Amino acid sequence: RMANFPYIKTLADFDWGFQPSVPRGLVEQLATLEFIDRGDNVVLVGSPGVGKTHLSIAIGHEAVMARKQVYFADCSRLVEDLKHASAKEALARRMRFYEHCSLLIIDELGYLDIGKEGADLLFQLVNRRYALKRSTIVTTNVPVGRWGDVFGSNVTASAVADRLCHHCAMIKITGRSYRLKDVSIGGEDG
Ligand code: ADP
Ligand code: MG
Repeated sequence: RMANFPYIKTLADFDWGFQPSVPRGLVEQLATLEFIDRGDNVVLVGSPGVGKTHLSIAIGHEAVMARKQVYFADCSRLVEDLKHASAKEALARRMRFYEHCSLLIIDELGYLDIGKEGADLLFQLVNRRYALKRSTIVTTNVPVGRWGDVFGSNVTASAVADRLCHHCAMIKITGRSYRLKDVSIGGEDG
C-alpha cells in the first residue's frame, strides 16, 4: 500500500462545514508541504471520529504525490515494532527506517498504554527526527498537557512535547464525531 496508508482520503473528501473548528486555511497551507521543507511538525488533537486520521492521510497523500518519502504508522504498532526490534538487537536498523522518511505520521497516540520502555523508544525516535529536522504528524485524543498519562512519566512526556511542539502547527478539533453524524445519542429520536 502507498506509504502504508490504511486507506486514501483527500482534502477534497473533507466536509469542512461539518467540522467548523478545523482551521481550513492552516490545513490548506500544510497541504502546500512547505512545512516539510522546514522540518516542522503537526499535532492534531481531538476526540474520536473528528477527522484527525483523515486529515493526516490527506496531507500525507499530497506529500506522496509530490514524491516525498512518507510513512504512516499506527502509534501502538510502531511502539511494538521498536520494542520487538530492541529485544532482537535490531533497534538501530528499525530506528533508521522510521527516521529516514521526510514525513512520518504517528496515528492515535494515547489510545493504548505504551509502557515505560515504549515511551522511551518513542522519545528516542521523536528526538532523532527533531535533530534531523524531519517532519512528523501526530494524531491524538489526549491534549498535550495530559501526555504524562500516555507516557507514564511527566518528564518523558515533556521531552517529547518539547521537541514536537517547538516548530509545530497545533490543530485542536472540538466538534462531533463524523462517524455518529446520522446518529442521535440521547436525543428525542433515540
Ligand atoms: P479520528 O482519526 O479523529 O478518530 P477519522 O479521521 O478516522 O477520525 O474519521 C472517521 C471517519 O469519518 C473516516 O472515515 C473519515 O474519512 C470520516 N470523516 C471524519 N471527518 C470528516 C469530515 N469532516 N468530512 C468527511 N469525512 C469525515
Ligand atoms: Mg484516527
